[in-house]
Amino acid sequence: MKNNMGIITNIQKFASNDGPGIRTTVFLKGCRLNCKWCHNPEGVRHFPEVFHFWPNCINCGNCRSVCPADAMSEVRKTPTYPDQRGWKGKIGSKIITINKEKCLNCFQCVAVCDFDSLIVSGRFVTVEEVIREVEQDIPFYDESGGGLTLSGGEPTAQPEFTLALFRAAKEKGINTALDTCGHQSWEILENILDYTDYVLYDLKHMDRGEHIAFTGVSNDLILQNLEKIILRDDVTTYIRLPLLPGVNDTEKNIRATGQYIQSLGLKTVYLLPAHPFAGQSYRLVGIDYPFPIGESYPEEKAGIAKSILESYGLDVKMWIAWVEDKTSDKSSLKTVKEIN
Ligand code: SF4
Ligand code: SF4
Repeated sequence: MKNNMGIITNIQKFASNDGPGIRTTVFLKGCRLNCKWCHNPEGVRHFPEVFHFWPNCINCGNCRSVCPADAMSEVRKTPTYPDQRGWKGKIGSKIITINKEKCLNCFQCVAVCDFDSLIVSGRFVTVEEVIREVEQDIPFYDESGGGLTLSGGEPTAQPEFTLALFRAAKEKGINTALDTCGHQSWEILENILDYTDYVLYDLKHMDRGEHIAFTGVSNDLILQNLEKIILRDDVTTYIRLPLLPGVNDTEKNIRATGQYIQSLGLKTVYLLPAHPFAGQSYRLVGIDYPFPIGESYPEEKAGIAKSILESYGLDVKMWIAWVEDKTSDKSSLKTVKEIN
């Protein structure tokens, strides 16, 4: 792939949770970690791929008949949990499933589906294309202190593209934020940081073994990189701490995290309790999700975590997402509130 090309899943405008001010967030596809709770499961693999959006499927079989890899030959049942978008009529019905091991990503199935039930996630774009879209909102960035955020997936998994995007943004006077897990070589990260204003840095677990168990990699490199990033005067770092039930929300881990952040001299932490929608994304794209689906993280428990972190002198901002109306047929998917 050329240096000025990359693969993205989405560009989200007017994002308000991905760094200061109003931002445009570009989601790059591909990640080196394999977090069990990943909120963007469609962004993990490094190539365009097809997903089956079961609510639209009428099980006509057209896709199966053209599949050269026999990757769509099995059936599964639609989820039985109450749905929020008025797809109740389809709950429990049989639908096709895609065997990702067999799939060749030829997209012949997509071409014959008349019901928008097969979706390709991931598209190749040039730096110029992305920047053209991002610069449309410069007035909003200027007004709010916002800019461009690269998220994912993991933006540093496409280092040349990320670097080129940030360089181009800087040439237009747009500030830049990198939403990263930090699992990348320091040499690569350092180059990107030369064009980065804000780093949104995920701390997933302080225990090395647990980190490996839940993400597939150790936290050694991640912690080492963070300790180097904070030495840079030209970059502002915000820690983001996802709160996952039974994974990293024990008092022991929250204390260890608070102590560590305090020892680095950092002040602001964003606490992100697991939201109830991630599981639905997994179901929609046909991937197993190991946590309860549709349940909000208990506010009381989140409040305790916040208090523990504050006891280490940290300024904790918490984002909670919950289902506004579980029975509504309208597309009121989520509401997010900030508790300061
Ligand atoms: S995914 Fe599309 S083509 Fe395949 S069975 Fe469903 S509606 Fe038919
Ligand atoms: S992308 Fe190609 S190989 Fe994969 S399920 Fe569709 S038709 Fe089959």
